[in-house]
Amino acid sequence: MTVITEKFNINTHGFTDIIDITQKVKNAVYKHTLHSAVVHVYVAGSTVSVTNIEFEPGLLVDLPEVLEKIAPSDGEYHHDNTWHDGNGYAHVRASIIGNGTTVPLIDGALQLGQWQQIVLIDFDNKARTRTVYVQIVY
Ligand code: ZN
Repeated sequence: MTVITEKFNINTHGFTDIIDITQKVKNAVYKHTLHSAVVHVYVAGSTVSVTNIEFEPGLLVDLPEVLEKIAPSDGEYHHDNTWHDGNGYAHVRASIIGNGTTVPLIDGALQLGQWQQIVLIDFDNKARTRTVYVQIVY
């Protein structure tokens, strides 16, 4: 088994900023011209997520609206009472959505659906620079 690790940084605006990272992931994977592999995309941090979405204007409003109902940004959080950083909502959202996604590479192509993009979502209450790791296992 071989593991290749690629990484890149993404600057975000925070506040549930949804950024399409599909092309950056493809660039990291396709430069190795592999036939078959497991590709895991991971972001480091407890107020940020990596997931999949159809990157279209409606869903870019729908997902934040739903998350606002589940973990309101003006809600009361024990985390904020302890740390006073005001981002309890961001930690909860990141835990729900998760930090990574796995995509199979088959016949040299990442098996993403036609309308499926890989996104980074930064929930924190300030601009951040995030590091995304792409591990290719074959
Ligand atoms: Zn915090």
